[in-house]
Amino acid sequence: MKTFDVEAFRKHFPILTQQIEQHNLVYFDNAATMQKPLSVIEAERQFYLTTNANVHRGAHTLSSMATSLFELARVKVQKFINASSAKEIIWTKGTTESINLIAQAWGSEFLSPGDEIVLSYAEHHANIVPWQAIAKQKGAKIKWLVLDEAGRIDRAKLTQVIGNKTKIVCCSHLSNVVGKFNPVEYLIKCAKEVGALTLVDGAQAVAHTQVDVQKLGCDFYVFSAHKLYGPTGVGVLYGRQSLLEQVSPYQFGGEMIKTVSVNETTYNELPFKFEAGTPNIAGCIAFAQAIEFVSQHQQKSLYQYKQQLTRYCYQQLAAISAVRFVVKEIPDIPLISFYLDNAHQQDVAAALDAKGIAIRAGHHCAMPLMSYLDLSGCLRISLSAYNTIAEIDYLIDCLKMLMTEPA
Ligand code: PLP
Repeated sequence: MKTFDVEAFRKHFPILTQQIEQHNLVYFDNAATMQKPLSVIEAERQFYLTTNANVHRGAHTLSSMATSLFELARVKVQKFINASSAKEIIWTKGTTESINLIAQAWGSEFLSPGDEIVLSYAEHHANIVPWQAIAKQKGAKIKWLVLDEAGRIDRAKLTQVIGNKTKIVCCSHLSNVVGKFNPVEYLIKCAKEVGALTLVDGAQAVAHTQVDVQKLGCDFYVFSAHKLYGPTGVGVLYGRQSLLEQVSPYQFGGEMIKTVSVNETTYNELPFKFEAGTPNIAGCIAFAQAIEFVSQHQQKSLYQYKQQLTRYCYQQLAAISAVRFVVKEIPDIPLISFYLDNAHQQDVAAALDAKGIAIRAGHHCAMPLMSYLDLSGCLRISLSAYNTIAEIDYLIDCLKMLMTEPA
């Protein structure tokens, strides 16, 4: 098998040639957002240069062209996650909005006092706060799934939490702190057994695994374009069609209506019923290009290369005596959370930034997880296929230097 040519791959990402503080940029914050390939940047630029018009409403050529590209992008997403119809793909501005949409639109209609919403301690705030808000509005209760030593949702304890009062189970496919795949198939099976719905937060997972929503059997799957080479301000809500049809709109205005009179409004069909107002047309079209980029780079060697980066980075960090990993096992993806004895995470991140290295420090929008792990925060290195072994070596040298410098 051909080895992965990382130098050729890096050429797709013009930002990587940037200098930060007179050092080559080393971008290790891919879980926060990924860099964009030239083809995606170009797709957005081309839209504004040649095709810009509003969608679904104009009776002119440019609008038809824009509409057609916009709807083709939806079909591209449908195929990408193997949804059974494009009607099941709702454009949002990101994972956060997708979850808020379901929590508010579904929750306000289908939750009752005493019902239970099941979350895990490892969720991003985006998959906690919307549920806390609707639980408060409806008198529902939140129950928490515990984690095993590797930081995954603990399979063995699922049935202690999921029960007859559970109405929905919401969990991440892959945590943004732990880097281990959750047992979502088993979770979905347990939820189904008690008649509960499932929402899977795929914000991190889409960049690292092929998602098949029909195979998973979840009711909702949500993710953001910007964590998969796409633009910011674009997200996806996948929902089972029969379920989405029962849910009332989330926001109201143009596009989501069929007819409006002074007395009454009837709503549009799926997916438009959930897409009030002018969407991020250029962003959605550019995201289709990002998916195209992914499909052009699906070679096995790329996945193996990412695994090689994961192992190498983990082993090099483990060799530094002050490094403490947040969880016990090597991660499934190149996302490693740790802290250093006797060094504050923000100071470490700032010192690395001065060397051109971008990593994340803090609570990672997962404060309940930090409390659960008894941490005030941690450092996170998240790599992509455009990162290199030489960059990891540079990071390790900088960390070692930091640890030996007098305070
Ligand atoms: N869920 C997870 C697991 C995440 O990692 C993130 C972002 O980091 C989000 C949700 C929120 O995504 P966005 O800010 O794109 O809405």
